[in-house]
Amino acid sequence: MADLSKIASLCKRRGFIFQSSEIYGSLGSVWDYGPIGVELKNNVKNAWWKSMVYERDDIEGLDAAILMHPEVWKTSGHVTGFKDLLVDCKDCKKRFRIDQLKSKKCPECGGELTDARAFNLMFKTFMGSVEQEADEVYLRPETAQGIFVNFKNVSIASRRKLPFGVAQIGKAFRNEITTGNFTFRSREFEQMELEYFTRPDESEKWFKYWVDERFQWYLRFGIKKENIRLREHAKEELAHYAKCCYDIEFNFPFAWAELEGIANRTDFDLKQHSKVSGKDLGFFDEETKKEIVPHVIEPSGGVDRAVLAFLTDAYREETVRKDKRVVLGLHKALAPIKAAVLPLLKNRPEVVGMAREIYKDLRGSYKVSYDDTASIGRLYRRQDEIGTLYCITVDVESLTDKKVTVRDRDTMKQERISIDKLKQYIDNKIK
Ligand code: ATP
Repeated sequence: MADLSKIASLCKRRGFIFQSSEIYGSLGSVWDYGPIGVELKNNVKNAWWKSMVYERDDIEGLDAAILMHPEVWKTSGHVTGFKDLLVDCKDCKKRFRIDQLKSKKCPECGGELTDARAFNLMFKTFMGSVEQEADEVYLRPETAQGIFVNFKNVSIASRRKLPFGVAQIGKAFRNEITTGNFTFRSREFEQMELEYFTRPDESEKWFKYWVDERFQWYLRFGIKKENIRLREHAKEELAHYAKCCYDIEFNFPFAWAELEGIANRTDFDLKQHSKVSGKDLGFFDEETKKEIVPHVIEPSGGVDRAVLAFLTDAYREETVRKDKRVVLGLHKALAPIKAAVLPLLKNRPEVVGMAREIYKDLRGSYKVSYDDTASIGRLYRRQDEIGTLYCITVDVESLTDKKVTVRDRDTMKQERISIDKLKQYIDNKIK
């Protein structure tokens, strides 16, 4: 597998990921997705949304606001509980999370550490024109609460019976103390979260179901079996709301680390919100004719971590006739660009014209690119590095035989295809 610096350098060079506000010296652990990165990220989110919402009939979608009533975060336990314990080194002044330290001395210089202080990870801002405590609001540190406070709205509007789920993708913010490892731990990131509401006595069955389902999802979109594993949380590791939790871990270049967590949140959130808001968030169960508070299974994944995992997993270097070739072997549903149209002779107007027509014909349903800014060898290399599935070259012969050459990213096999059958051919390959 590639080391992280190779991935980060490819990301910058080819337009996947840039540091935020780079020309001002960057903003720490905040990242921007470039022209190729935004396609990959959208494809990851679409793949998740399709398998969660479109391919099933027990899940509804939601897009809640980032800003929420501040009471939400008191009730959820985040104001008091969403804290890391911090220590500083008295000598080198570096800061560490206590749960990540292996000894009582500074891991950088061996110096003495200060006593631990609690540090809340939520970002605060002010709503309205006066910057006073009463007007403080938070940038949400997880998307889940937007689902819990809308539980009643969604279940009534969509006439749902248990079990059913609500899926959401959106931004979350955490003022992380220890960062690094590229986008792995960012201060602004996106989550893909499902809250699956079940009868209390069925929650364990559904917990097992979702652990397996989510694990399979990563395999389905190409993550290699040897790079992914499950890890059960020990009791002392569990979040304040969770009864049990499994992490899906990926073999990142720096360590095995969490890609997604699946937690049994029990009825903690609905009960708490019910109690504090005074609104009944129970559910009348038609089957048992009883009012119950559903239990919740939560698969919670990070979009940015998934993107980083798919990138590193797909990265490979090959030698082809003594030349090095870097390929991103991304799954066809995730590949940012499905096809690239490359005219072999950019100073022959008929060839360029034909290539442009083909490009126009293909674009629209998926992302296609057109490039005539280098020699064919370099154009292929560029497309391989961003994982483009098919390269279509137009040459002088194309003018007479009305055919083009289609090159497959992985096998590098080339096929001559009639232009009038090309769209069908590419459509069939990528669907
Ligand atoms: P960690 O232990 O790595 O801090 P966590 O257990 O706090 O993560 P959760 O609160 O379970 O994370 O969040 C669910 C998912 O959201 C994680 O599995 C991860 O994919 C993503 N996520 C959480 N924090 C970050 C972050 N700072 N940057 C990028 N993704 C994140």
